Amino acid sequence: MRYAPPIARLLEELERLPGVGPKSAQRIAYWLMTADTADAERLALAITEVKRTIHFCPVCFNFAEDELCVVCGDTERDRTIVCVVEEPRDVVAVDRTGEVHGVYHVLQGAISPIDGIGPERLRVRELVDRLGENEITEVVVATNPNVEGETTALYLARLIKPLGIKVTRIASGLPVGGDIEYADEVTLGRALEARREM
Ligand SMILES: [Zn+2]
Repeated sequence: MRYAPPIARLLEELERLPGVGPKSAQRIAYWLMTADTADAERLALAITEVKRTIHFCPVCFNFAEDELCVVCGDTERDRTIVCVVEEPRDVVAVDRTGEVHGVYHVLQGAISPIDGIGPERLRVRELVDRLGENEITEVVVATNPNVEGETTALYLARLIKPLGIKVTRIASGLPVGGDIEYADEVTLGRALEARREM
């Protein structure tokens, strides 16, 4: 059986979403087709709204609605500590632990020679510029506890330590090969608390 073209187009778009396979795409598409028009339009509007209003914070490369992201715009933050993470979603995970009262820097990825991703493809240059301009005394590297995350952490330590800035790495206790964003709050909080100097 062939789908009517509008349904086929919707399925095709839904299947491109992360974590959505053909079965889930079909379930969502059928839900949308039977949902109230207002519900479907609210979803469509929410999608266009984030695309229109959300951009990268020019300081830390987290997502932002205003000129700066909510963290960089918060005057209560300790600006001597910068926590380096791979993705904007990691900012949410680390911040929820309450262990880091500083600010963040989002690399937008990790070093992965196999995928041809070197430091020049990440926001490393911008991090070094920040370190030169501000009163930063500690860089907490909270990249994922997998090969790419560890490679990135070592690279950053070698780059930053000569600048006279303390570089710490979150402790193990996080499952190796795992993702920061999926770690539970307690495990991630302990890993941050027990960070060690690199
Ligand atoms: Zn920011």
